Amino acid sequence: MHARFSLALVVAALAASPLFAQTQDEPFWPGAQYDPKIPTLKQVVGHDHGAEISSPDQIGTYLRALAQAAPERTRLVEYARTYEGRPLWLLVVGSADRIARLDQVKADIRRAADPRGLAPADADRLVASLPVVVWLVHGVHGNEISSGDAALLEAYHLLAARGDAGVDTVLRDALVLIDPMQNPDGRARFLFQNLQGRAATPDPAPYNAEHDEPWPGGRSNHYLFDMNRDWFAQSQPETRGRIKVALEYFPQVNVDLHEQGGNNSYYFAPPADPINPYLTKAQRDGFDLFGRANAARFDERGWAYYIREVYDAFYPGYGDSWPMMHGSIGMTYEQASARALSFARTDGTVMTFRDGVMHHFNAAITTAVTAARNRETLVRNFLEFRRSAVIEGEKSPTREYVLLPGHDPSRAAALARNLATQGIEVRRADEAFAVGTRKVPAGAYLVSNAQPAGRLVRNLLEPDTKQDAPFIARQEERRKRRQPDQIYDITAWSLPLMFDVEVATSAAAITAKATPVAAAYDAPMTPRTVPAAKVGYLLPWGAAAAALTVEATAQGIRVHSVGGSFTLGGRTYPIGTALIRTAGNPADLAQRLSALATKHGAEVVPIDSAYIESGTSLGSNDVAFVKAPRVLLVWDQPTSSLSAGWTRWALERRYGQKTTTVRAGSLGRVNFADFDVVVLPSGTYGDAIGGAVLSRLKDWIRLGGTLITLADATRWAATSAAGLLDTNALLKDGKPDVPPSGTSANAGASATADFDKAIQPDRERPDFQPGALLRATVDVDHWLSAGADAETQVVIEGARVFAPIKLNAGRNVVYYADKEHLVASGLIWPEGQDLLVRKAYLMHQPMGQGHVIGFAEDATYRGYAEATMLLFMNAVLLGPAY
Ligand SMILES: [Zn+2]
Repeated sequence: MHARFSLALVVAALAASPLFAQTQDEPFWPGAQYDPKIPTLKQVVGHDHGAEISSPDQIGTYLRALAQAAPERTRLVEYARTYEGRPLWLLVVGSADRIARLDQVKADIRRAADPRGLAPADADRLVASLPVVVWLVHGVHGNEISSGDAALLEAYHLLAARGDAGVDTVLRDALVLIDPMQNPDGRARFLFQNLQGRAATPDPAPYNAEHDEPWPGGRSNHYLFDMNRDWFAQSQPETRGRIKVALEYFPQVNVDLHEQGGNNSYYFAPPADPINPYLTKAQRDGFDLFGRANAARFDERGWAYYIREVYDAFYPGYGDSWPMMHGSIGMTYEQASARALSFARTDGTVMTFRDGVMHHFNAAITTAVTAARNRETLVRNFLEFRRSAVIEGEKSPTREYVLLPGHDPSRAAALARNLATQGIEVRRADEAFAVGTRKVPAGAYLVSNAQPAGRLVRNLLEPDTKQDAPFIARQEERRKRRQPDQIYDITAWSLPLMFDVEVATSAAAITAKATPVAAAYDAPMTPRTVPAAKVGYLLPWGAAAAALTVEATAQGIRVHSVGGSFTLGGRTYPIGTALIRTAGNPADLAQRLSALATKHGAEVVPIDSAYIESGTSLGSNDVAFVKAPRVLLVWDQPTSSLSAGWTRWALERRYGQKTTTVRAGSLGRVNFADFDVVVLPSGTYGDAIGGAVLSRLKDWIRLGGTLITLADATRWAATSAAGLLDTNALLKDGKPDVPPSGTSANAGASATADFDKAIQPDRERPDFQPGALLRATVDVDHWLSAGADAETQVVIEGARVFAPIKLNAGRNVVYYADKEHLVASGLIWPEGQDLLVRKAYLMHQPMGQGHVIGFAEDATYRGYAEATMLLFMNAVLLGPAY
């Protein structure tokens, strides 16, 4: 298929170059002898390993060929489908005996995963008989291409190698799960542009078109998520499929094979600091076991590598770390990327795609062999991990976490389901009970800390997970010297904080009658029957009510939003409660609402009288009509692909909101009158939106349009050039970030005697915050805050701080809390805290008949910031209404 780019051409072109240091003849595995009955990649798809970048289709084709050639030693499973309809594959490789009894083997593994009530003799029998499960996952980032092809070579080698002691050990003592391509949509996107960009002969220049991916690149999936952050969020179908695989096989060793920049060497475990504090000593020892084995292999072959740098093991939502919370030893391997078939390195050598395949293949096979050779220890350690997680929970001052339903029970329900689907036991209380002096209603969710997944429970439900102090001290030192910090990812991820679900803790086990929560996203929802009502229905606002409203308005059901709080039938309803009147709606309204309430898990309250006891009347002028909004989302450069992708996913998939996605470069052709809402994801729009487009956008807002800006788009909206939002982004010293006028403020600074003072920059952005959760105060008298209470938590990441908007211009619907309450979780640099106190998070500025709504940060962050995602949906749904 890609004959023009054959290996012969690569070799011919590169052999002529003196730069060509690596040899294409270097065998993948010296001395290997292969069974001719097992088909080679070349026989099946037309190219040899490493000679071409195999397409997602070719990967599937070859796996099927291997499974057909060796059915007794393989099981090929399609474990999920992507949004673009591509299959995700898992090839299970083991001895013929184990594959024949695979269901029993899996049942035994799951038994070992729950040692409660397991007799010592049974535990010993499991340790003696179980294989070690090694899960090799590849290419979560679609442009990290060599790992997918290495996977095919790993499978071939394990099935075709003859007389190889290592392979024999693997087949005897291990079960190897090969996931060749975690992100086929991203890989397909990479390949599409790579083939288009190719020169007649492979060009290793790093800046040429084939290496230089256009927006959004192949790293992410269809919704542009970084799926290596999605494991506990499980927002994407690919991740959900992998979670199911993990809970079916409970691997004891898992490796996530990636690629890094082309001038690096090869990285493998042990990882860099910080390490997640819930990992056990046995797991840390495991890093060393596998690190030493890989090092021996790489030393033998003369390949460079590095350890304990860059890649940490702190955030529990990586592909390596999440399985660790279930008891595996999880590791990331990173090969330098050729990002095409060849890459000119700064050291004067040319690295080929084939080199990458060879390195990954050697590391993966070495890992499988090492695991097999240590089978008994690894299985016993796994069992011990699960057992000690229970014991630690029993001894912990927090024996149970209680998720309180609060004013938006749909969010607690969503959190409970999220936890249950990732292997955590969750119960729903069927009756009211007390924790100490606190009364807890029926419908609360109970999560025992004393369960085999207890370490995952603690990671996700504790408000804070600490990084070790010496590491933080080192980062403070670096920061003083303006060196970048070594924090690889965000420092806070507590799910109850991000869902804004209150958690009570109990020191004793809770014995209230309770029902287990189903561990499946597609488990049926509790049926809800909405009776016919004379006047209509009230929907207390929240995530489920918002999702129901999106679908109802799209069906033509007329929905109103009550713009103030009121009391009816003895119950007080806050601002933003939705009202669906019987009059003016379809005759089958009750049946339709029953179906919608069931699907979305929303509360629907029938009312036969609109005569309120106090507050805003249901026929008041403060009641706004909620139309089905026509939403335009700006896409492509200069948007941040993550922000644009998260926001599109939140609109289309989380809330079912139809969205028209328009490339920023095409905004000049848009008739804004066709839309009610325009969303600008994070991005710097100075060059993309100006002149005629900006003035048409402002006219449209004045006539009733709702403009929503996120993160850096809000920064742009606040510039004088944009003139959309009357606030200022602030500098590190708290002064407005406006262009300096006149002479440099620094004139004469060299005369100062204070060296430390003299070297401080004049205009400096605030410190970059690596990602944390801040507490924020909510103005609950504003419709944008519907469904929130007076305090919430928001994700912040980066260097944005906005002065609060002045009363004559608009309102600060959400702003950061006082200093003593500010940090809800994670790390915020000390001076940064002073600067962030009481600064704006969510600003509303009326403009003519329309609105500008600015979020200081990404409200849809990673698809898991549920509480702020609802605020974003309020802007989308209610902006056009009010
Ligand atoms: Zn990667």
